[in-house]
Amino acid sequence: MAFEVTESSLSVEEYPFVPGLVLKNISKRYGDVQALHGLNLEIQDGEFCVIVGPSGSGKTTLLNIIAGFTKPDDGEVIVDGRVYNRLSPRDRNIGMVFQDIALFSHMTVRKNISFGLEVQKKNSTVDIDNRVKKIADRLKIGNLLDKKPGLLSGGEAQRVAIGRTLITDPSFFLFDEPLGNLDADLRMEMLTEIKRLHLNLKKTFVYVTHDQEQALSAASRVMIMKDGKVLQKGHPREIYNNPGDRFVAEFFGVPSMNLIDGTIIPEDDGSLFKGAGLRVKLQGYSQPKEAEVTLGVRPADVIVGSRITEDGFGTINSIELLGDKNHIYLTLDHEQTIIAITPPKTTFELEQKVRIKLKENKVFIFDRDQGGRLHP
Ligand code: ADP
Ligand code: MG
Repeated sequence: MAFEVTESSLSVEEYPFVPGLVLKNISKRYGDVQALHGLNLEIQDGEFCVIVGPSGSGKTTLLNIIAGFTKPDDGEVIVDGRVYNRLSPRDRNIGMVFQDIALFSHMTVRKNISFGLEVQKKNSTVDIDNRVKKIADRLKIGNLLDKKPGLLSGGEAQRVAIGRTLITDPSFFLFDEPLGNLDADLRMEMLTEIKRLHLNLKKTFVYVTHDQEQALSAASRVMIMKDGKVLQKGHPREIYNNPGDRFVAEFFGVPSMNLIDGTIIPEDDGSLFKGAGLRVKLQGYSQPKEAEVTLGVRPADVIVGSRITEDGFGTINSIELLGDKNHIYLTLDHEQTIIAITPPKTTFELEQKVRIKLKENKVFIFDRDQGGRLHP
């Protein structure tokens, strides 16, 4: 094979492990909206980095700035040690797959894929044809090359959009919520393919989504964005187990973390949380004075039963049987609802009153106003 590289031909000097992409203090304002807020970010060469955040958090603005379609008001985009701010999008050699696919409807799939190369006028027709075929086969759309986009399914159209990006052989890839319009099954299938593509190409992928389930399953590293800032970054498991604040805690995890408002009361050997009829003892957490807080506990850390030492009681208002586990929806005092994940064999009934116990070392306490983490 022509493009095969043997291991001995790669030396450490040629492939140093450095941040491939660095964003320094990037700000962008649209009128009254501060879309990005002095954002700092480092992405390793060859990494599959997922940026996840709610709609409006600045993800698309960020990608457009990296790709060169939008100019930042402030800050630097640095690729392989070189400041990119003044480079045009074409000179950046970045492939971007957009949220909105927008294929050329009057062109065949073949033309849609080859278009980017043809405008460069660097390659012969035969060469372009071969590359289109190779890419189409890799994306399993070899049989669609003569069709027009109007006849494609959502998943097929997305493959064409990826192919169109691949053909110019970019040095790294930006994906802006590429699977938003597909249904859940297809979404996971395409995500797996994008991951496989990353494995084969060994290039940097920055993948943006508001869907943290995708983020959890795809990433070796996740960055959580909100209001134009990166709130937390790390391995998904680390973020799940160790969320920095209430927003990250609630946003990251399916089903979401249970949040219960209440009061924390100092005691001799720790503190006591009181809220929604629960009394939760927190050993080793000393709080100087009574304070309004929010308790957070993951559904998997809520124990439900009839013969346990309880923190309080709840009434079962809904049960989802999922085969390998059950989701139990419980109503506590003051109409507070929480979810517990229970083993598949436990049998509960609707309207049943049950004891609830929160796993003690799995309880978080957040500041009620600011959302900062107070404990642990
Ligand atoms: P996301 O992709 O995370 O949903 P965006 O980057 O699209 O977020 O938007 C971030 C914020 O900037 C939003 O409040 C949005 O309304 C605003 N915004 C983005 N692009 C423009 C624009 N071209 N003109 C005005 N406001 C914009
Ligand atoms: Mg967006």
